Amino acid sequence: MLALQFQLQQSQWWSAEQIRDQQFQQLKTLLAHAALQTDWYGRQSAVAELGNQQNPIDEQAFRQLPMLGRGDLQNNLPALTATEIPPAHGQRLSLATSGSTGTPLTGYESEINNFFWGACNLRDHLWHGRDFTTKFAAIRTKVSRERLPDWGRAIACAYHTGPAVTLDIATPITDQLDWLVAEQPSYLISHASNLQALARQSLSTGAKIDNLRGVISFGEKLPADLSALCEQAWQAPLRDIYSAEEVGYLALQCPDETTNYHVMAEQLIVEVLDTSGDACEPGQWGEVVVTSLHNFAMPLIRYRIGDFARVGEPCPCGRGLPVITEIMGRSRNMITLADGSRHWPSFPAELWLAVAPIKQLQLVQHSPQQLLVHYQLEQALSESQQVELRRQLANSLRYPGEITFEHHLEPLTEPGQKFEDYISRI
Ligand SMILES: [Zn+2]
Repeated sequence: MLALQFQLQQSQWWSAEQIRDQQFQQLKTLLAHAALQTDWYGRQSAVAELGNQQNPIDEQAFRQLPMLGRGDLQNNLPALTATEIPPAHGQRLSLATSGSTGTPLTGYESEINNFFWGACNLRDHLWHGRDFTTKFAAIRTKVSRERLPDWGRAIACAYHTGPAVTLDIATPITDQLDWLVAEQPSYLISHASNLQALARQSLSTGAKIDNLRGVISFGEKLPADLSALCEQAWQAPLRDIYSAEEVGYLALQCPDETTNYHVMAEQLIVEVLDTSGDACEPGQWGEVVVTSLHNFAMPLIRYRIGDFARVGEPCPCGRGLPVITEIMGRSRNMITLADGSRHWPSFPAELWLAVAPIKQLQLVQHSPQQLLVHYQLEQALSESQQVELRRQLANSLRYPGEITFEHHLEPLTEPGQKFEDYISRI
């Protein structure tokens, strides 16, 4: 792990061209393997051709390879699974994803791929100077209330660490906060919406987590106000991780004084493409398409992960790793107007908290003229509060259509579900 970390510390400074050369070299090996060992890619002559050592590989040739959709992955798992993987890649491990869209995916990864995920996890801690001797807390899915001796295998194999504590994210927020106050961890990782609820609860009750030195969010679109909220509630800096269960860590935030995300280019090729399939220029946003370079157990080549992101200029830190400035979420999180135009909605929490102490707010659009606002609150909004919230939302969303409200006493998400503040059902 330390040897790989050393390599990653070198490669982060390579030029963009050098990184691309290395990616294409690894890609060739992956393509040859995929063509030979899977039915799916075996049927695609372009994959075998480009995997052939004799044929040159460049941007244009790479972009000719067909893309793989989420639906393709869901419906063709056996065809995408490799019959054999190189012995040096270790065992085939099972991947079960929680599926924020409701349909869980199950797939495979190799041990070596899992090891690379661990290396990115360690890289994140090292980049942000986290103190391994302290206590780490994780509130997430697929864990129970537990006390662990260390920060996990990927870290503990290289460093002596303090303990870690875990809690199921389905635990009520007040209980989560009580648990954090009792545990007093130095670092906390959770989903953005959960951190938001915890920080607000901390502020309203005055609960203190004095030891907290850093907060890490992952798995959800980062709300614009979360960083300020973490500072306000806990005086702790927030760092976000862009990851997906099918491919692991896509990008980590730069260790320097910038909010840029650096793509984990040693592990995957991340394309950000415009509607005609061309690479976006800095400042433009487009669809994220991922090629996982080390997972030979279930090769994912040009996989349309469903997210949209904005490309950045090269980072002032000097690292050659590609830059993403913003992850915009999924196209199903875009608002549609009556004229057919679409944009990502913005409705900061200050706006709706100024109307009522709403715990959770979720907007669901059923038609271009019809927007339903689900909200969790102890009592239903009064008529005048509804008028005010409707006015605020219409303004902020640049949406002139009808807005109706639905009151909920219980949280809006099922335990373990990812929270999405805007869902389009058009
Ligand atoms: Zn940077």
